[in-house]
Amino acid sequence: MRFLSADLIFPIHTAPIPNGILVLGPEGKIIDILSESDSSAPEKSRIERFRGALCPGFVNTHCHLELSHMKGLVPEKTGLPEFIMQIVSRRHENADQKLEAIKLADEEMWRNGIEAVGDICNTADTLEIKASSRIKYHSFVEVFSFDSSRADEVLQEGIRVASQYKERGLRATIVPHAPYSVSKQLFSGIREQQENFTGTISIHNQETASENEMFVSGSGELVEIFQKFGEDFSDFEPQFASSLDYHLRELPQDQNAILVHNAQTRPEEFVSANQSRSNLFWCACPNANLYIENRVPNVPIWLESGAKVCVGTDSLASNHQLSVFEELRLIQQYHPQLTVGQLLKIATLNGASALNLDQEKGSFQKGKLPGVLWLKNLDVETGNLSAASVQRIM
Ligand SMILES: [Zn+2]
Repeated sequence: MRFLSADLIFPIHTAPIPNGILVLGPEGKIIDILSESDSSAPEKSRIERFRGALCPGFVNTHCHLELSHMKGLVPEKTGLPEFIMQIVSRRHENADQKLEAIKLADEEMWRNGIEAVGDICNTADTLEIKASSRIKYHSFVEVFSFDSSRADEVLQEGIRVASQYKERGLRATIVPHAPYSVSKQLFSGIREQQENFTGTISIHNQETASENEMFVSGSGELVEIFQKFGEDFSDFEPQFASSLDYHLRELPQDQNAILVHNAQTRPEEFVSANQSRSNLFWCACPNANLYIENRVPNVPIWLESGAKVCVGTDSLASNHQLSVFEELRLIQQYHPQLTVGQLLKIATLNGASALNLDQEKGSFQKGKLPGVLWLKNLDVETGNLSAASVQRIM
């Protein structure tokens, strides 16, 4: 057994414990959390003492490992439509380094304290690395085409890829890319596949202003870009309040759904969407939003509206690193009113719940194997993350 103590322990499922003692069994299984004065506390010489805080491992609910070889390729702050053009035209550059880049990205996430990842994929390129990784992955096999005549062809390819993950014993579901790139017919096929590929789904949501514009007026920059790619919008009737209004009618209802970005979601939309179903999770990717759209999501407003918030890094095509901790630091920089406890909860337990991994990850509850992170030099009085760093203990 190991006994770890710090200035502050964040169990996440309960309030933080000053000078608590975390009792770990084999492989880091949580046996107990004690207070200093507890009669069962071990003698001081057996306690490993850390300055700062301890918390469970992080959960990254949105990544695209497959794009890791694109690190530094795409110019920053050009807006989503231009970013999509760049990804589509340049995703084959550096392709010979693809597998090596995926492997390095997986190792980077582990080092940065990430225990579990919800990862978007279009191919089986990441399969072998996921199968041998220490990180738990849920693969979201993403399909897209707004052209309804291609719905079946696109879905069949998604089934082929998702089956490869499933056959290796990895979790995989078939998910829609984004409202602007998935037709009603393709949504219908995705719903039918929920029986074969059961589990959490994910969709990019309201990342940019022209996305809502498409569903309200049928025009805008995104429509123009997809027309350039040959998408056919001729039978599309824009009769929606927003892109969220469109896809909430089409998403499978029974499984958790992670809505990613939400940069243009209005406060009242969070409230009404959460009233319509209780299994929505709202994923913030602040560094990617800063990289692509030059803005940071207003997470305090999401939380005030009662949203279950989680955190994603997005890919190395739109981020300088894959670190949930760096995402928290950026949120705190823009929204210092949030407490460290609030930030750590969205980075751990909320993400684990979103991915259906909360039996095992996300908090220091007895019996879990959540990983243990040291928030080195965290000033526990102010909670300021700027001088702190993260180091994996287990
Ligand atoms: Zn993404």
